[in-house]
This record gives sequence, structure tokens and C-alpha cells, in this order.
Amino acid sequence: MAGNGATVGVLALQGDFREHLKVLRSLGAAAVPVRRASELGEIDGLVIPGGESSVMDKLSRAFGVAGPLRAAIADGLPVYGTCAGLIMLADTILDGIAGQQSLGGLDVAVRRNAFGSQVDSFETDLDIPAVGEESMHAVFIRAPIVESVGERATALASVDDGRVVAVEQGNLLGTSFHPEITGDTRFHEYFLQKVRQAARTAA
Ligand code: GLN
Repeated sequence: MAGNGATVGVLALQGDFREHLKVLRSLGAAAVPVRRASELGEIDGLVIPGGESSVMDKLSRAFGVAGPLRAAIADGLPVYGTCAGLIMLADTILDGIAGQQSLGGLDVAVRRNAFGSQVDSFETDLDIPAVGEESMHAVFIRAPIVESVGERATALASVDDGRVVAVEQGNLLGTSFHPEITGDTRFHEYFLQKVRQAARTAA
């Protein structure tokens, strides 16, 4: 543990991990890129970034990180996944590529590229009471939706038509959108609270 009491890893196999490192460091956390299973022992929490979940899945298995990470999640490691990272955390992936696997942990079914090819990317404002009263500007890039939320998970935010785009389950957090690129750090702060809490409990 360091820097305000927490070392947070960012899975750095692929995707926009640099943006997450920057946000976490701006909030006073010691943030480190994670590529190997051996590095999992040094962190109090992990962010899985946006990118391409099918590629992240293949790389995490090829690098031997997937199995140990799955075990760490089951063991209570706090993990926050954005977009592709949310897909990695979902117990069930809909519209994955052939053979695509997730790490799992979140009791949800997530559909990849769910907003259709016409509307690959869009921005909107979301009400997310868990992180504060003020609405959050959210950027969606070929984003997944949470198609079903299981009993163990809780929806934190939905778009106007009711489709769920943020979920929480114990130490796990997932958003379809990308708070790491908008400058609104409330989700990262919310996650850091979980990380610090979990680190204190384990100490
Ligand atoms: N469509 C991507 C996937 O399936 C996710 C896009 C993103 O992370 N911005 O992994």
C-alpha cells in the first residue's frame, strides 16, 4: 500500500489503460500497470480499461493472467471495469466472438456493441445517485449494455430507455461508458473508497 493507502493496478494488456493510470494518480493513488500474474499480489484493486474485450481475453489467457485474476476476483479483489472491462467482468457475454471468455464475477449478462453499428458512439448525461446528485456526462464508444442484472448485482445507472449501463456487486464495479476520458472522477473516487476499505479490512 502507498499514496493515500492504496496501490491500484490497471490491466495494461490492451486498451486505454494510460488514461486510467492518469486519473488514479491525479486522485493520489499509487497506480501501476499490470501485465503479469506475479503483479497481482502487489495491488489492492484493479481497473480493467476500455478497448476490445475479445483481444483482452486472448491476451490475458496467453499471458497467464486470466486464471490468477479470476481467482483474485473470487477472493474479493476490488475491480472496476469500463466498457470492454465491464465485458471482462460479466458472468455472461452476449454477442461475443466465437470462443470468447470473460473473467466473470459480476452476476450480469452483458451484450457487446449493443447500441448498433449506426450509433457506435454517443454521449449523454446520466443520473447516478450512488456517486452524487449532479448528473454525469457519459461517453459511450461501441459500448455494451447490461442486458440482465442478476440477484447479486445492483444497477447504478440507466440510459433514457431504461437499459442498464452501470452496475455494482460488492467490490466489483462496471460501467458501459468511459469516465476516464471525461474529467469527471467520481466513479474512480467511488472505486478508490472500495479499494481502501477492502485494504483496511485485510490489514
Ligand atoms: N466493443 C468493445 C468490446 O467488445 C468495447 C469498446 C470499448 O471498450 N470502448 O470489447
